[in-house]
Amino acid sequence: MDQVELEAWPEFDEDARTLLESAGDVIHPGTGELLWDAGEAYDFYLVLAGGVHLVDGRDNRVSFVVEAGDFVGELGMLMGQPAFLGGVATAETTLLRVPVKELQRLMATSTELSDVLLTAFDARRRLLTRLGEGGLVLAGDDDRDMHRLQEFAERNHVPYRTVLRSDPSAWNELAATSSLPPTGSAVVAGRGRVLTRPTTRELAAAVGLDLSGLPERTRCDLLIVGAGPAGLASAVYGASEGLDVIVVEDVALGGQAGTSSRIENYLGFPRGVAGGELARSAMLQAVKFGAQLASPRRVTGLSRHPDGFQVRLDDHNDVAARAVVVASGVLYRRLEIPGVAEFEGRGVYYAATELEARACVGQNVVVVGGANSAGQAALFLAQHVEQVHVLIRRSDLAETMSSYLARRLAHHDRITVHPRSHLTSATGESVSPRSPGEMSAGGEEVRLEAGGLFLMIGAVPRTAWLRDAGVELDPKGFVTTRDTFATSVAGVFAVGDVRAGSVKRVASAVGEGSVVVSAVHAYLGGR
Ligand SMILES: Cc1cc2nc3c(=O)[nH]c(=O)nc-3n(C[C@H](O)[C@H](O)[C@H](O)COP(=O)(O)OP(=O)(O)OC[C@H]3O[C@@H](n4cnc5c(N)ncnc54)[C@H](O)[C@@H]3O)c2cc1C
Repeated sequence: MDQVELEAWPEFDEDARTLLESAGDVIHPGTGELLWDAGEAYDFYLVLAGGVHLVDGRDNRVSFVVEAGDFVGELGMLMGQPAFLGGVATAETTLLRVPVKELQRLMATSTELSDVLLTAFDARRRLLTRLGEGGLVLAGDDDRDMHRLQEFAERNHVPYRTVLRSDPSAWNELAATSSLPPTGSAVVAGRGRVLTRPTTRELAAAVGLDLSGLPERTRCDLLIVGAGPAGLASAVYGASEGLDVIVVEDVALGGQAGTSSRIENYLGFPRGVAGGELARSAMLQAVKFGAQLASPRRVTGLSRHPDGFQVRLDDHNDVAARAVVVASGVLYRRLEIPGVAEFEGRGVYYAATELEARACVGQNVVVVGGANSAGQAALFLAQHVEQVHVLIRRSDLAETMSSYLARRLAHHDRITVHPRSHLTSATGESVSPRSPGEMSAGGEEVRLEAGGLFLMIGAVPRTAWLRDAGVELDPKGFVTTRDTFATSVAGVFAVGDVRAGSVKRVASAVGEGSVVVSAVHAYLGGR
């Protein structure tokens, strides 16, 4: 057993057992009895005798066996996500069943129980992700649509497996139990339910990662727009200090930081930390304190409400919030040059994570940009690809990149920096993301053959949704703030990259997200 497996199956001490017994009831299910089905919400079960089989609904294959002394549960349980796998009792089974609400109450009162459960739930999610278990299968061709679905699953830490038409034996095996479409993408969720060409929202709904479980009109103390480092920090501090918090995230938890392969300048991580890892831990912390996360949902408008604010979501549902923290960050600029739009998601990328690196293994790639994000992307990609070409407009990296990164790029034998260069066009020779494209760099008129083009050329604030809300923006669209991150509208605060004059670092976003909570308390207390 490795470390993750050990953490996934801990033992409870007497105190923890007594606590669980105080909140649960003992049941004796029959042999083969279905305790819950894949796709349903489920309770926490401690196995006292016998066992529970965790079953993949597609083909009734037993993925895991939970034996006496172990317990059933996974991270999604705390987030209101439906089960990835169904649960079936084995012979002569006795279980202690604890409803999730009761479990959350116990975790809030006992640090020991909370530590054991959170560590185990987190380790189980990592195990499921590593094994590709979890009942969610993404099926189709290796194209832009597949990349969109994989990106959503990866960035939201949802375990999944990919089955491609180009692998006939895997395709036929899946087709034997699920009715797959002849063309296009499909998602096979619990119990073989097939969604054909699903939107990201439909995929989110299938794994329970959205607000649909809430009543149509919801209210909360604090609504946070965006789950990047600033928003997640506000959620952790807000929820841990007693506020009823909802975080609405358009794309994936972690924001820009979630797409960073390695953040090396965040305090306390001398060996660096992968952005996805930081985002996962922050999510765990926010959930532990009871914050409600909703993704993918975009906030489209903000207006006054008798109790505070009315926040409009892109599905036209409204949430009433007594205060609002804007943490919507920035979005990477797109290059308006021939070829780029056509190849987005299948050769042209705005992030360099494992997913994109896998698509470019053994090929040359081009990274455009001279800031830290471009430097990190180049170093990360150099571990997977043949050669990385970095195009920068200036004559060197000194003015735009941290010196530790610039030095590493300069001395890396698989990275070439092309100064005073810019991209003029991108041409692909076929629709396959693995086929080489030709990119010409202006100035020196270099033609580069590459399997991937990574664009990291600055960012614009995500504030269009604020324009009718009366919140003051600067000429570039960033939110102007005064002391304690207050905006021009009392009760609306702004933190992180979206704020005019912000430092554009993970640490500052986290710092601002935590500090703003005391200002929110003061505002709510004064009303
Ligand atoms: C590749 C890369 C590498 C980086 N490396 C480093 C590094 O090493 N060190 C460092 O300090 N910094 C680094 N940064 C910068 C750092 O990630 C950012 O400064 C930080 O993420 C800002 O956090 P934020 O929460 O303010 O905004 P963001 O991270 O931009 O998060 C904002 C979130 O809000 C969501 N959102 C936007 N609009 C809406 C809406 N209307 N409704 C709902 N949700 C919405 C977005 O989807 C996003 O998830 C890097 C950035 C990138 C892209």
